[in-house]
Amino acid sequence: MRIEEDVKLDFKDVLIRPKRSTLGSRKDVDISREFAFKWSGKSFKGVPIIAANMDGVGTMEMAKTLGKNKVGVALHKHYPLDDLLAFYKKDDTSLVWYSIGMAKDDEKKLDEFIKKNPKSIDKICLDVANGYSEHFLDFVKRTRDKLPDITIMAGNVVTGEMVEELILSGVDVVKVGIGPGSVCTTRKMTGVGYPQLSAIIECADAAHGLGGLICADGGCTSPGDVAKAFGAGSDFVMLGGMLAGHTQSEQEIIEEDGKHYLMFYGMSSDTAMNKHKGGVAEYRASEGKTVRIPYRGDVEATLQDILGGVRSTCTYVGAKKLKELSKRTSFVRVTQQLNSVFGHE
Ligand code: 5GP
Repeated sequence: MRIEEDVKLDFKDVLIRPKRSTLGSRKDVDISREFAFKWSGKSFKGVPIIAANMDGVGTMEMAKTLGKNKVGVALHKHYPLDDLLAFYKKDDTSLVWYSIGMAKDDEKKLDEFIKKNPKSIDKICLDVANGYSEHFLDFVKRTRDKLPDITIMAGNVVTGEMVEELILSGVDVVKVGIGPGSVCTTRKMTGVGYPQLSAIIECADAAHGLGGLICADGGCTSPGDVAKAFGAGSDFVMLGGMLAGHTQSEQEIIEEDGKHYLMFYGMSSDTAMNKHKGGVAEYRASEGKTVRIPYRGDVEATLQDILGGVRSTCTYVGAKKLKELSKRTSFVRVTQQLNSVFGHE
């Protein structure tokens, strides 16, 4: 047994220190980025925020609305092949990530998709709860060999040595985050995790040293957290809970006493496993929870709030482009974030 004594930080432990700035207004800020991916040779231009591949978030409707704002979506894994083929044929999918897990069925569906429509997928997301297994690394290498010119995002991990290993195995973007998610219970069930802000700082450093990129996944609760993730060096930021509960969720809206709700759940929760896999496998503890959340209408307003917040952060530190934000970020450690006189909203 060993104890690491260094303090590791979460979004709630820091604020961004303001800096002298020549920027007049947040309208002057460009929050899009351009990246060249290490392995696929492809490039990216857009706002580097991605809706998570979860039911109620990574939907085709979400992709259509977010896409108009140059924001991406990782589709959830449960669309039937025909729906996927039709979507990729008809809609602009330039900011869409096709997601798969290690299940044989996911790989089979992807193979069939590519056979029927070889050119349409250019980005995939290989998503497993625990990116540390040897098995996952083999899966990543096999996928890279099979699909040499497709951009691969894969995870999740939280430490530099595994980021390096994944990048050297063919991953373009490493997804970072174990346990911080809004409907994740991994930390409670297993005691495993890593404070997300420190994970981003350490993993970004490891990835950038090898010409790779990272995507901070999970734990953002406000536009300020998204800005902190970028400030900490993340290239992309993935959002689940912050984008859940909207018209674009493609889910039943429940009415009770004149109020409207939607169900939101982790992708390894009992709810998700019962829905998609016909039950919870016995050996596997459910590591996600199910919550009922207020219906929030069209996602457009929520998105503008997020984008406006990030733009505003950039004006506070004098970053004309999102690219400059991490260079201009100094975090200050705090013991308090918000004034709670009127609650925490
Ligand atoms: P959020 O933005 O809601 O805080 O976090 C979203 C992320 O939580 C997802 O992208 C995914 O990595 C993670 N996640 C989603 N469902 C589950 C789950 O059932 N269990 C765990 N451990 N993580 C989940």
